[in-house]
Amino acid sequence: MSHIYVSAHEDDDLIFMSPTLAEDLRRLRVTTVYVTAGDAGNPRASYWRGREEGIKAAYSVMLGGARWELFSYEAAGREIAGFSAVGGKVRLLFLRVPDGSSLVKGLPPSKALQRLWDGEVEEVGSLDGANTYSRQGLIQTLATIMGKEEAEVVSIHDPEFGPTGCDHIDHYYSGVFAHEAQLLHERPHTLRLFRGYSVDLKPQNISEEWCRYKRMVFEAYAHHDPFVGKPFSRLYEGWLRRSYYRERRHDAERLQIEARQGS
Ligand SMILES: [Zn+2]
Repeated sequence: MSHIYVSAHEDDDLIFMSPTLAEDLRRLRVTTVYVTAGDAGNPRASYWRGREEGIKAAYSVMLGGARWELFSYEAAGREIAGFSAVGGKVRLLFLRVPDGSSLVKGLPPSKALQRLWDGEVEEVGSLDGANTYSRQGLIQTLATIMGKEEAEVVSIHDPEFGPTGCDHIDHYYSGVFAHEAQLLHERPHTLRLFRGYSVDLKPQNISEEWCRYKRMVFEAYAHHDPFVGKPFSRLYEGWLRRSYYRERRHDAERLQIEARQGS
């Protein structure tokens, strides 16, 4: 079984998609794709590279220690930066599309994914200068990764819950792009749609034990991200205590047969 996670930023999988992610890592082959660089508009590459270090540190905690190896992952004609551990059983892929928002005063948000989706721009370049993505190119890249990994479970941001004023536009558009991609993924698969910031409108739904675990993992990440204050704000504490997702089955072959019968 191979599971794919598509995360907008280098921490959304820890906050919104865990403890599901933590459980998967104990049993399964997992590939997590980070769509944006998570630069938050910060022009210094050291910031987003630090977040990548943070996510590796967090996964190392979940894996009980890991030695990471840099590798290049080929998908849809692009060479994507990746890190693998546990003999390739766990892989982190960084597309490094510019972050849509800006936490830096005076700098406008790039809204890169939104502009790409809306057709306002033809393509965007990754922050490492390695690749460019058109709207279709990004969908194709994500679909190719799902296909190459023979993903049987695909976990993404739920595009139904944003942007409603209480979620990050990157969560929403990463969800939209990943949702389109999984429609091209022909292998029958389970789709999990995770809610973002709006989870804090819902009751706590994970055990105290898992809350402690998620906080411990997130602390390993936050050590590398100066934008996360310490101690964690009530917002972070609230998000870490929750994880909500919808699940549905996708069987492209069956859908095609149904479409033919209907035509
Ligand atoms: Zn995020």
